[in-house]
Amino acid sequence: MKIFKIIRFSCKKMAVGFRSMKTAVVTGAAGFLGSHLTDRLLKEGYRVIGVDNFLTGNPANLDHLQKDDRFDFKQQDVTEYLNIPGEVSVVFHFASPASPIDYLELPIQTLKVGSLGTHRALGLAKAKKARFLIASTSEIYGDPLVHPQTEEYWGNVNTIGPRGVYDEAKRFAEAMTMAYHRHHGVDTKIVRIFNTYGPRMRLKDGRVVPAFVSQALENQPITIFGDGSQTRSFCFVSDLIDGIYKLSESVYHDPFNIGNPVELTIKEFAERIVRITQSKSTIEYHPLPTDDPKQRRPNISKAKEKLGWEPKIDLETGLVQAIAYFKERLSQKGVGKTIL
Ligand code: NAD
Ligand code: UDP
Repeated sequence: MKIFKIIRFSCKKMAVGFRSMKTAVVTGAAGFLGSHLTDRLLKEGYRVIGVDNFLTGNPANLDHLQKDDRFDFKQQDVTEYLNIPGEVSVVFHFASPASPIDYLELPIQTLKVGSLGTHRALGLAKAKKARFLIASTSEIYGDPLVHPQTEEYWGNVNTIGPRGVYDEAKRFAEAMTMAYHRHHGVDTKIVRIFNTYGPRMRLKDGRVVPAFVSQALENQPITIFGDGSQTRSFCFVSDLIDGIYKLSESVYHDPFNIGNPVELTIKEFAERIVRITQSKSTIEYHPLPTDDPKQRRPNISKAKEKLGWEPKIDLETGLVQAIAYFKERLSQKGVGKTIL
């Protein structure tokens, strides 16, 4: 793996050359979504300050920005006080373990970044009179009893179950965000992200897309948890980022579901990966993790109507791009590189 050179946080650079540019702060910038969001913001004319402590992120996700003067990086835990000099027009709080195996392994950090980290990021937005957008999740609906999930549904979460550390941290984060909006007048936005996939996911992060694709590419058994009848709806990363960008520029403060409503069972998903990769993999059944939601599909009527957003990339097209990325990552095995 290439060693990521941390760009020194330069107050001088900010004071001189970039006064006219809008500045965005992205927490979790070295992660899968944070790095794609950073790319989009740079494309839209923002200067971006990324903040990340590499807990679950990969420095290589930012390698391509090392020479970009409009990007600065601060290696920091966002549960600690965030000191960002200069003007900031928007704060995106994306830092948090996001894969079930990550947050089951890092329960306290997950709770802390969703609560204390959200408080820090909101405090920064308030101090800078900046807009604020929190990456919430479909997990706030828990094992949903309403299907598909609309933003009005309050959810069905087991607070004390192993997944509760993530779900409840995000529910707290939404409550804290609305409190900063109502009490302090901060211009806040909440996006409830449904399962998203694409390049820059870690091969070994345990989420179903990298898990099944890497198993298929290596002709290893596909590990289905449970009987595979549980459903998910997968959104390609560029569609998701487009929805998030549109929401960030909008006038709304209440939550928006952003995701792709095409739903399939995990068994159907496994079969599709095997077919696209022309793999010889067989299917192997493993116990279903505790509180694994039985169904998940976003109702995106609100995003369609109010943001004029809907996904454009169908699953087959998105998977071909994601598979090409994972293939490339796997080909780096055995040439002395660490595979994350
Ligand atoms: P990721 O693990 O790839 O990225 C998260 C980033 O946050 C990592 O780079 C990690 O190092 C960083 N981070 C974690 N704790 C931190 C801390 N205390 N201080 C600083 N940095 C910290 O995950 P992702 O898939 O990119 O998810 C990004 C956000 O989107 C998360 O908030 C997640 O809950 C949310 N989300 C993602 C999905 C999805 O399908 N990818 C779905 C729902 C919600
Ligand atoms: N899953 C699976 N095999 C794996 C990884 C995940 O069957 O190797 C299942 C998991 O139990 C869940 C679905 O795939 O039902 C999606 O899991 P993921 O971890 O991607 O995200 P979740 O939607 O559960 O947050």
